[in-house]
Amino acid sequence: MSVAPPPELPAVAARFWRYVQIDTEADRDSTTTPSTAKQKDLGRLLARELAELGVADAEMDAHGYVYGSLPAAPGAPRLALLAHVDTSPDAPGGPVVPQLHRAYDGSVIRLPGDPEVALDPAVSPELAAHVGHDLISSDGTTLLGSDDKAGVAVIMQTVADLVADPELPRPALAICFTVDEEIGRGVDKIDLERLGADVAYTIDGGAVGTFSFETFNAAEATIRVRGVGVHPGYAKGVMANAATILSGILAALPAAETPEATSGREGYFFPHEIGGNVTAATARVLLRDFAADGLERRKRLVEELARGAAGAHPRADVEVEITDSYRNMREYIERTDPRAIAFAFAAAESLGIELTAELVRGGTDGSRLSEMGLPTPNVFTGGHDFHSRFEWNTVQNLEASLAYVKALVGYWARHGGEPA
Ligand SMILES: [Zn+2]
Repeated sequence: MSVAPPPELPAVAARFWRYVQIDTEADRDSTTTPSTAKQKDLGRLLARELAELGVADAEMDAHGYVYGSLPAAPGAPRLALLAHVDTSPDAPGGPVVPQLHRAYDGSVIRLPGDPEVALDPAVSPELAAHVGHDLISSDGTTLLGSDDKAGVAVIMQTVADLVADPELPRPALAICFTVDEEIGRGVDKIDLERLGADVAYTIDGGAVGTFSFETFNAAEATIRVRGVGVHPGYAKGVMANAATILSGILAALPAAETPEATSGREGYFFPHEIGGNVTAATARVLLRDFAADGLERRKRLVEELARGAAGAHPRADVEVEITDSYRNMREYIERTDPRAIAFAFAAAESLGIELTAELVRGGTDGSRLSEMGLPTPNVFTGGHDFHSRFEWNTVQNLEASLAYVKALVGYWARHGGEPA
């Protein structure tokens, strides 16, 4: 039983209100695409609503991806907007019962479904900056799913507004709603040919005014040590203990360069898996760095430590295998079309807001798309405290995200036809 949006909500917030009530929780243990069939419930609705808006080619494919496009004059740039329909399996996903907290006064709001769950400025300091806003949360028993139904609602409303006003300048606009982003499979089955875009934006970010186009360069080192096991009573000069040799290598990694000791632009070594005994021991170490040469330095250090250990323990065998995982998306964006970044800042300026570049200390769908040749930075949605039962957004933030996305689309329409 769904709850109708309060009548005073502006269109983008009313859409958001409807979409969050459709449970689209992803499932890591599933091997199907989408991982849960219910993601198609929202996909089907979005395809139908796009068609009703006049998007002639709107369609959901067999994998649950929704595509649609708005044509433009020949020579117009081809821009794509993306958002994901699924929600995180890290908090209960539904049924979501949205709550509107009008004109927030800065106090603690206890959520009606679970008195233990509250919107509390002491826990979520961003709330203090939203006094006067109309907050939207769940009832405390589920996540809200602003991540990423806020992005879905903003894109749908952008399409609706463009359709309603044919005078608005527009690029050739491709829309894509993806599935299973939260379990790392968001672009596994995407059809880039069908999307047919030169530049894209995911509308999947956080605080108003934030913009992401940088991720880590990432690799993983697997260190394998083979030792010599004998009875400890007769071990002198014979035993080579793989477990202690491996521990020595890991202990020599810089203690200040771990995930728990770094932030911002600092990279790290992250031994995230270790196992073994006297005769064989293995560790897997994630290497992360925003700079390409920084990642290379980290690879070399692991290799040097392994060589040093091998030299000190000639009876043992030490080998390192390093595989690259992903690269800083900025590199790909700047190589393919740096306007993806420059226009985003220019569009913000035209609106009188300032964008803040936010570093992503992880990979994103956008980084994979950028690597695949489609430059895809990430735009804010205004949501906070994702993947939790106290997730929230505000009516005003949704409107700010919508205004920005429309400005961005307009900026591309006016300037994107010029050569890159
Ligand atoms: Zn998201």
